[in-house]
Amino acid sequence: QWTGLNELREKYLSFFESKGHLRLDSFPLVPKNDPSLLLINSGMAPMKKWFLAQEEPPRHRVTTCQKCIRTPDIERVGITARHGTFFEMLGNFSFQDYFKEEVIPWAWEFLTSDEWMAIPKDKLHISVYEEDDEAYDIWTKKVGIAPDHMVRLGKEDNFWEHGSGPCGPCSEIYFDRGPEYGCGKPTCGVGCDCDRYMEIWNLVFSQFDADGKGHYERLARPNIDTGMGLERLACVMQGVGNLFEVDTVQSVLHHVEHIAGKTYGENAKDDISIRVITDHIRSCTFMVSDGILPSNEGRGYVLRRLLRRAARHGRMLGISRPFLVELVETVIQSSESAYPELREHDAYIKKVIGTEEANFARTIDAGMNILNNMIDGLEKAHQHLLKGLDVFKLNDTFGFPLDLTKEIAAEQGIEIDEDGFHAEMKKQKERARAERLKKNISGWSEDLFGGLTVEPTVFTGYETLNDTGVVV
Ligand code: ATP
Ligand code: MG
Ligand code: MG
Ligand code: MG
Repeated sequence: QWTGLNELREKYLSFFESKGHLRLDSFPLVPKNDPSLLLINSGMAPMKKWFLAQEEPPRHRVTTCQKCIRTPDIERVGITARHGTFFEMLGNFSFQDYFKEEVIPWAWEFLTSDEWMAIPKDKLHISVYEEDDEAYDIWTKKVGIAPDHMVRLGKEDNFWEHGSGPCGPCSEIYFDRGPEYGCGKPTCGVGCDCDRYMEIWNLVFSQFDADGKGHYERLARPNIDTGMGLERLACVMQGVGNLFEVDTVQSVLHHVEHIAGKTYGENAKDDISIRVITDHIRSCTFMVSDGILPSNEGRGYVLRRLLRRAARHGRMLGISRPFLVELVETVIQSSESAYPELREHDAYIKKVIGTEEANFARTIDAGMNILNNMIDGLEKAHQHLLKGLDVFKLNDTFGFPLDLTKEIAAEQGIEIDEDGFHAEMKKQKERARAERLKKNISGWSEDLFGGLTVEPTVFTGYETLNDTGVVV
């Protein structure tokens, strides 16, 4: 039966409350005391101290719906049916309490029982870690899954670990959306990257303590960490084609359509842009409501990149005025029941997004022209590398974040000289420093500029954070 996203969230949390869990609010997107992580990207990320038994949790069974940002998925957004940079992750957690025997049947009960999701059982497929006979047996014997709906996958897919510390095999639940969503390859099946078998829920059995050098010690008291994308669950329950067509998200999508004067579903390329904008404005709104401001580094850079990327897709749709700020209200309306911080800060969020958008709007057309000319020039000369200095100018003069330039260039088969770009950035910082020293601004000791003149923070988050949010 059709169920709205807000109601699905409530059902999940109350299901796990009925199993003795304490419901906690989502943690903010900005991690506390975790330098390994730029932005919260899973339900478990803010709870590491409880998994490691470094702190006593408020209860040993907790359930949350956690707002998440996953920038490593940025290039898949709008292309696949199932990836957003922003999404909500439902989760239930056991800190040295219940384990596989409990969590597997609960997950199955929630998804398939008539009282809860009532998903037809034969549409669900299960993966387990190849060596995890225990999980395999629970699924097949206790739950009764037919072997043709079970797969055993290797470490890459079904073993969850991050350096040293708690880790373990996992078991994932996939929903078969039918061959019309498949890639059609003979090898297509669970674990294929196409949209047919959509992963909906990951159950992690953190039962080992790894020393990071390949030695795994079985924990006396293991943990459970699960994560299910709320929008993916809604996609299944509402029978829609992708995350962006889910009820709450769709309200944003329709607003984009309206502003662009386009009809969703008429042109594949426009549809991608509409979905990208829909996703990115959700990310931006939530990030600003958690106190992140646009900047050239770290989290602020992620925000700036998302916002400017969305602005560019707006241009591609033919929208010539600043429009992202208008979407903020729709995002707030669709999510404020679960995230009151959105309404609380609504004026502030609109101000920050409006200002950033206006700044970029002033230069985006000029920047696009210059960049297109640069690319034409390279193509005429049969060259494929955009100079670091050019990338720097686009950034410095037109506000094109490195990654945006990289992406636009890549669409034309052009690469960019990233090292050259960073070298130019460094030179600029040195010039600025020399300038300040020359002026010898009274009362400002050189020390005060320390933070500005040290080596630039090289942001490597996209490369070094894996999907579980772990620096690799
Ligand atoms: P996929 O293989 O589809 O990229 P994943 O294995 O990276 O998913 P997990 O890290 O296991 O995902 O996260 C747990 C759950 O969170 C997934 O089963 C899925 O339901 C949801 N999820 C993960 N990434 C996204 C995303 N980018 N957008 C929406 N939901 C997501
Ligand atoms: Mg996966
Ligand atoms: Mg997974
Ligand atoms: Mg992934």
